[in-house]
Amino acid sequence: MSSIELKNIVKKYGDGFPAVNDVSLDIADGEFIILVGPSGCGKSTLLRMVVGLEDITSGDLLIDGKRVNDLAPRDRNLSMVFQNYALYPHLTVFENIAFPLRLAKGQHSDDEIRAKVQQASSMLELDEHLERKPANLSGGQRQRVAMGRAIVRDADAFLFDEPLSNLDAKLRGQMRTEIARMQRRLGVTTIYVTHDQTEAMTLGDRVAVLKKGVLQQVASPRELYEQP
Ligand code: ADP
Ligand code: ADP
Repeated sequence: MSSIELKNIVKKYGDGFPAVNDVSLDIADGEFIILVGPSGCGKSTLLRMVVGLEDITSGDLLIDGKRVNDLAPRDRNLSMVFQNYALYPHLTVFENIAFPLRLAKGQHSDDEIRAKVQQASSMLELDEHLERKPANLSGGQRQRVAMGRAIVRDADAFLFDEPLSNLDAKLRGQMRTEIARMQRRLGVTTIYVTHDQTEAMTLGDRVAVLKKGVLQQVASPRELYEQP
């Protein structure tokens, strides 16, 4: 678990208007923060900078008080779940979830990997499907595999980029409940990008509203959506 601090973060692509413009935000250890705003307002760009997939043009990114602007993604110990899951089609559910542990070569024994995958898959109710390939799973199950892969690593924080947007309404509702439960249980700092007002209202401790790259407001869901 970690705190994440954004200090005057700016992102410019080429010489265009900043996609992210002077954003400052303190995210506490264990906090669940929702990032909302219209398409193109810079949500993905912000997440990608935090995880290290995109360079920060100016400003400081601190994880647990340490500046990480120049750290490679693999050295930040954050887990990101993308909209399109990106599962490996030729690998089983077990191997998809185990993948990050296998990548960290020599750090985990086979027994340890089995135990961690077991724990994640039981939390996500995937125990029965460990030997299947992604093609033989439902959308919701695939999304849970992607989550399993994110949580198996003991990351310091989770970053979600509209993880439920490709699911139908019913599955979205189920997964929303599971995500809320999982985050409470693990208590891991989470930044969650969404277009969905229900997710914004129910999942997070606070909601951050971004518009044209500028942070407009940071408030509890109640303050934001139930104000007269
Ligand atoms: P959101 O996730 O809120 O939809 P993005 O972060 O994807 O917004 O995009 C913010 C702005 O930055 C948009 O104007 C988008 O066109 C631009 N942008 C995003 N990625 C790139 C890129 N790789 N190169 C140039 N412009 C980009
Ligand atoms: P979303 O709005 O759902 O996050 P986008 O269509 O904005 O998705 O972006 C999809 C991908 O294309 C992202 O990796 C983003 O960085 C990239 N992208 C977005 N806008 C541009 C752009 N103007 N030029 C180059 N790449 C872009």
